[in-house]
Amino acid sequence: MQPDAMRSAPAGVRKRRFGPLQREVSIIGQGTWYLENGDRASAIAALRSGVELGMNHIDTAEMYGSGAAEELVGEAIAGRREDVFLVSKVLPQNASLRGTKIACERSLARLRTDRLDCYLLHWRGPHPLEDTIAAFEALRQEGKILSWGVSNFDVSDLEEVRRIAGGSSIACDQVLYHLQERAIEHAVTPWCEQHAVAVTAYSPFGHDDFPDARTPGGRVLADIAKAHGATTRQIALAFLTRQSSVFVIPKASTVAHVEENAGASAINLAQAEIALIDAAFPRGRPRRGLPML
Ligand code: NAP
Repeated sequence: MQPDAMRSAPAGVRKRRFGPLQREVSIIGQGTWYLENGDRASAIAALRSGVELGMNHIDTAEMYGSGAAEELVGEAIAGRREDVFLVSKVLPQNASLRGTKIACERSLARLRTDRLDCYLLHWRGPHPLEDTIAAFEALRQEGKILSWGVSNFDVSDLEEVRRIAGGSSIACDQVLYHLQERAIEHAVTPWCEQHAVAVTAYSPFGHDDFPDARTPGGRVLADIAKAHGATTRQIALAFLTRQSSVFVIPKASTVAHVEENAGASAINLAQAEIALIDAAFPRGRPRRGLPML
């Protein structure tokens, strides 16, 4: 299946081209870490409602629930595969030349599909990047993945990948990015924009540390939310996706949460509002090393 054969996803959530790919991917997507831990029926309904709303970007990994999250996603997208931009990740310890291919086959089986839209190295590990990239390229030749990318890669790592793979091979860098952790804005996002690499922001709500409404920052979000008839989480997502390279993948276990998150894509923040959020949640000074969960 070639990328352009994808059926147009339902309208709704705003989409953009994903890095160098000829694919329209929803700027608000759906994460799946720990999704298998809650009520299964609710999780499946949530993912399906997201796809209905046009949130075609679904992010999972072999790590999540040791494959249980991928199985859940496979069940949720059965019959809707063409409407989904499906991303999974290989664990660093599996990312040898042979191990990456085997891990990919396992993920495809759990996801009940014949291809991933994008396959990521979850973080840098013991295997040479040359071997992982060679496996990604082989999988791409076979049509088992349509593109590949990395996760938790700092600029020096991205440069190394570019030296090995050349040109426009890297589809995305999936990195930690939320209001209280804006480190990627210093160098990673600019590098990705310069090289047409998509930035996928993980844990956009801070995993489980969203700013409390009683804090000064929380009050800034609440005031802006009120002006837009929106929620503070929607304002946070609108802020994070203000740059054209950035996609967010909040994890939500209920239809209500998914619908709320989807609604963020319609919000356009004014420059003055962006400045207020920027001041309330400053990006801070550049630090050594990329933060990750
Ligand atoms: P997150 O998306 O920042 O936050 C998830 C939390 O927010 C959950 O407790 C969820 O609750 C809640 N939530 C979602 N929508 C809500 C809403 N509208 N109102 C109230 N609460 C809401 O955290 P995350 O799961 O860490 O990150 C998102 C995804 O990024 C992951 O699922 C995973 O796919 C990916 N990720 C990747 C890496 C990596 O190394 N590449 C690392 C971490 C995460 P409910 O579940 O009750 O809806």
